[in-house]
Amino acid sequence: MVQDLERSLREELVKCMKILHSKGLISGLGGNASARLSREGVILITPSGKFKGDLTPDDICKIDIEGRVLEGCIRPSIESPLHTAIYKSNPHVNAIIHSHSPFTTGLALAGKKIEPVNYEAAVIFKEVPILEFRTPGSKELGELVAQNIKNRRAVILQNHGVVAVGSTPLEALSIIESLEEVSIMIFVASHFGEVKLIPKDRI
Ligand SMILES: [Zn+2]
Repeated sequence: MVQDLERSLREELVKCMKILHSKGLISGLGGNASARLSREGVILITPSGKFKGDLTPDDICKIDIEGRVLEGCIRPSIESPLHTAIYKSNPHVNAIIHSHSPFTTGLALAGKKIEPVNYEAAVIFKEVPILEFRTPGSKELGELVAQNIKNRRAVILQNHGVVAVGSTPLEALSIIESLEEVSIMIFVASHFGEVKLIPKDRI
């Protein structure tokens, strides 16, 4: 049964990376995804240095909660410290996806916040923080995100991208997709004029 769960999580992670790549939310070597395999802290995570649009389930690495490789590959994602920090301090999180979503990241670069332009934005992304820049792959980035993602579904990394969490990889992916959808709406509306928001008494 454990092997069945591991196999299906490996397949789901691969599927998520293909979708992220095909939608332009990551480039070939960007972004990463992981899933918590067991309460003991075994984590499945995408590898570093491989084309993300064409991974196979066997490319996925297995690491422990300290980021040590248990089996499967030589180089797990360079953002492993980000993933392990989130799992350590957020026991309810079982999957993490990190993308470089261009519209969401672009709006943050210009200092624009996510506003309640649709129901998802009003409810799920009510308070998506924009976290100040930390070096990709650093322990500092991991700690900053782990602290700020508590009770949230996503955070935006300034000059970098987005991190979303969920109970499954597909759930975390949906958060990334919804956030980008909202960002595109805000971008388009801002281009043409004033952005109409859902009235506060209707949320
Ligand atoms: Zn990144």
